[in-house]
Amino acid sequence: MAEVRIEALTKYYGDTCAVNSLNLVVNDGDLVVLLGPSGCGKTTTMRCVAGLERPTYGDIYIGETRVNDLEPRERDVALVFQSYALYPHFTAFDNIAYPLRLRKTPKQEIERRVRDVAELLGITHTLERPPGLCSGGEQQRIALGRAIVREPVVFLMDEPLSNIDALLRVYMRAEIKRLQHELGTTMIYVTHDQVEGMTMADQIAVMNQGTLQQLGTPSEIYDLPANNFVARFVGSTPMNFIPGALQTENGSTVHKSDQFVIPVSAEMADRAAEVCPGGQCTLGIRPEEIRFTMDEEGANQAGVFLLEPLGSETILDIEKEGLLLKVKDVAASQVREGDTLSLSFNRFHLFDDATGQAIR
Ligand code: ATP
Repeated sequence: MAEVRIEALTKYYGDTCAVNSLNLVVNDGDLVVLLGPSGCGKTTTMRCVAGLERPTYGDIYIGETRVNDLEPRERDVALVFQSYALYPHFTAFDNIAYPLRLRKTPKQEIERRVRDVAELLGITHTLERPPGLCSGGEQQRIALGRAIVREPVVFLMDEPLSNIDALLRVYMRAEIKRLQHELGTTMIYVTHDQVEGMTMADQIAVMNQGTLQQLGTPSEIYDLPANNFVARFVGSTPMNFIPGALQTENGSTVHKSDQFVIPVSAEMADRAAEVCPGGQCTLGIRPEEIRFTMDEEGANQAGVFLLEPLGSETILDIEKEGLLLKVKDVAASQVREGDTLSLSFNRFHLFDDATGQAIR
């Protein structure tokens, strides 16, 4: 087990900057998720840590050792990829045993360790079968078993669940998290699926265009996004954004847009005056933070044009003068399409239009 420290990691492929001066510390025993859209540099980062790519600049440490010049096999990391890359003609037992045989581990020890790992993963019944006779979930567990049996100091997982169906993914992500806690092994886990990232991580590193946008716990990332990219990327029903500007009305500050006038606390207004003197900023609010009443006389009115029932909650699609908002209704209100609602904006964020950074 070990800490992983990435210092100013930069990787160019020709003119393409895949990773740009990335600094990241993964504490010993933590599960850190690299989260971001396709092409943001997650896999490249992972491959640099694994030793499959050489950084253009920067250093990578595993524990106290600078590993830049070490071969992949000398780094004591285990990789699990999207494709399980199991040997089709080997049994599950032989697939899991493979890294131990490479190391010339004694036969009896192989037998014991493979069976222990298989039991941990609940795949003892598959051990005599080739992968082709196992389900997708079992194949994924066999690939995990092959990684675990090596007892590496770091696990590197690159979208390991993307080939299995949605329902099984929900179970497998919990299983990987449980295993990681049980084994206490440092893990870097790559995904573009923000729900997977949020549910699994001790810390999430959100990346975009090769740069780290924010590192934080899932709740920090969700509740206090550092900028409008993180705010937009995280949240299964995305955050709403209302472009506008801060203005003073009757001695108080409001966020004024073409559609709404929303009061801003004195504290937030003071901060905005410091960092965003022009006042041009976009208000961001999560769908569950917009409250509504069915009062047609109230302030900030808007019409419901679509209902999206999800069982435990309904998403109300609301439109006002060309601006679309999504509002979560968890209280099973009797709202119908075509109704007019009066909205109030509970906990919101302001993002400086010039920089995209959160004002707080
Ligand atoms: P995905 O989720 O689609 O796998 P990612 O976040 O893992 O994306 P990377 O695979 O790290 O992103 O790619 C980052 C950038 O580097 C992309 O622009 C990609 O096209 C480029 N890139 C990656 N590998 C190579 C390569 N071997 N040669 C040239 N460009 C590459």
